[in-house]
Amino acid sequence: MAMNRIQFQPGLSMPEFLKEYGSELQCEQSLEKVRWPDGFNCPRCGGSDHSVFRDGQRKVFQCTGCRHQASLIAGTVFQGTKLPLTTWYLAIYLISQAKTGLSTLALGRQLGVSYPTAWLIHHKLMQVMAGREDRYTLTGKIQVDDAYLGGERTGGKVGRGSENKVPFVAAVSLSEANHPLWVRMTPIAGFTNESLSAWAKTHLAPGSTVYSDGLACFRAVTEAGCSHYPTVMAGRKPKVVPSFKWINTVLGNLKTSISGCYHAFGFEKYAAHYLAAFCYRFNRRFNLRTLHQRLLVAAASTTPQPLRMIRLADVHC
Ligand SMILES: [Zn+2]
Repeated sequence: MAMNRIQFQPGLSMPEFLKEYGSELQCEQSLEKVRWPDGFNCPRCGGSDHSVFRDGQRKVFQCTGCRHQASLIAGTVFQGTKLPLTTWYLAIYLISQAKTGLSTLALGRQLGVSYPTAWLIHHKLMQVMAGREDRYTLTGKIQVDDAYLGGERTGGKVGRGSENKVPFVAAVSLSEANHPLWVRMTPIAGFTNESLSAWAKTHLAPGSTVYSDGLACFRAVTEAGCSHYPTVMAGRKPKVVPSFKWINTVLGNLKTSISGCYHAFGFEKYAAHYLAAFCYRFNRRFNLRTLHQRLLVAAASTTPQPLRMIRLADVHC
């Protein structure tokens, strides 16, 4: 059964991880290989002839052709960090292997760094995951539902129109055999035609078939070239309606993840990050052993994220 295959797949054990990435030198070599698989390539002139020197802790590459100097971490999400790469690598490992998510507090404890440092690492890596998720649109058969985060009760669906909650669209695409393929969860301003139309144009491929409950605004997916099949619940619980089985399962998983790990964070400000991190893991659930490697590749190819971009407002959660 599909779910068991996921639950019982071997992950990457901590000893295995440490054997490969336990020292700064190993992490440097790994990052170098990820950034320049065919050897150094000057980001300015494209030349490959270079010399290498150290600026304090960091390895720096100098292009022989144009004299441009590029540190190993410049141009990646690690740019500007004073932390050793071993700390970042361990964070990537812990975040990618934590099936039900990891709180910033737990991450900080395991990394042995302060809470603000753990917060920044966590959010930078979640932003990397969000960037990865943004590259895909859902296509084919898609179940959608309206859901909320935050407020007095965290996680899952807790009723429309509740105050202090972040509304988000939850969507899951299904295979021909009705197995879940990809999920997408996106905070939106509200469940209006305009929001849903804009959401569908961004996240759904035209020609997709969308199944929803009777909430009127879901009709707006037709504006994105999708066909729409609403099901009026008429008092039935969504769980017993087969066309909503997977979206409910996924929302249930999210609720477990949120209530277990993220109970203290400010949903309103960072909902998109946490939802993207959840989706990132879910969408790669068959590849637990290599997830850290994928996240590392994503981090190395994600442009630097200044703190002010992440911390849109000061928040202590
Ligand atoms: Zn150059």
